[in-house]
Amino acid sequence: MPELPEVEVTRLGFADAIAGATIHAVALGKPLRWPLGVAPETLVGQRVLAVRRRGKYLLLDLQGGLLLMHLGMSGSLRFAQGLPAPGAHDHFDMETDRGTLRLHDPRRFGAVVWAACEADARAQKLLAGLGVEPLGEDFGFAAFHAGLRASSMPIKQLLLAGKLVVGVGNIYASEVLFLARIRPTVRASRIGPQRARRLHEAIREVLARAVQRGGSTLRDFSSADGSAGHFQLEANVYGRDGLPCKLCGTSVRVLRQGQRSSYFCPHCQRP
Ligand SMILES: [Zn+2]
Repeated sequence: MPELPEVEVTRLGFADAIAGATIHAVALGKPLRWPLGVAPETLVGQRVLAVRRRGKYLLLDLQGGLLLMHLGMSGSLRFAQGLPAPGAHDHFDMETDRGTLRLHDPRRFGAVVWAACEADARAQKLLAGLGVEPLGEDFGFAAFHAGLRASSMPIKQLLLAGKLVVGVGNIYASEVLFLARIRPTVRASRIGPQRARRLHEAIREVLARAVQRGGSTLRDFSSADGSAGHFQLEANVYGRDGLPCKLCGTSVRVLRQGQRSSYFCPHCQRP
């Protein structure tokens, strides 16, 4: 599943190239998770002004509105000239004077949704519940720590929920908690200032590093120019159950939390 770093890498892969392009045609394939919400012809003739990201949504600012794109479970975007005709899994094609933006999504949990502006109810329905951006300036320590103190959820699940801070998906949550030396099952409210500080720093560090390395652990991820995602997370604990911890040699363990696997070192990560 594309996580925040993959989505950011996708954005960086085509944002500059598409900014200023004029839309010539829009073709839809099979239904995606949500409908576009406007006749495709409405987009024709509009210019793409910029591409932003909020959580795992890409926001394409057009002259007359906004397109929100989500990659779902298996989506990937390409922006290139001279693409072949859309295949069975290509469900959104936006042809511009600079190339075609194509959403390839075999499982169709992705979506492209039109909204008149960001304040529009259609946009807010998707964006309103999102926590702060982990890599932005709004991710301050004081508010983060207050959010931890206010929750009795296990820390791993609080991070996954994305209401405190977005972008810490399942793989990243295990890695972040290892770096902060906190066991995934610890109640958030029991995390003191020192551990909270380490956690806050670990979130930024792990996600920033993932973006830097080009973002993906997903096999069918490709960046916007079509090249395969080359990032392999150098996991300390994720997927390493039974293998020795890279710091202390103790066997890494795995447990289930809310249907998801959490990996941790029982020695390095305190309960
Ligand atoms: Zn260890």
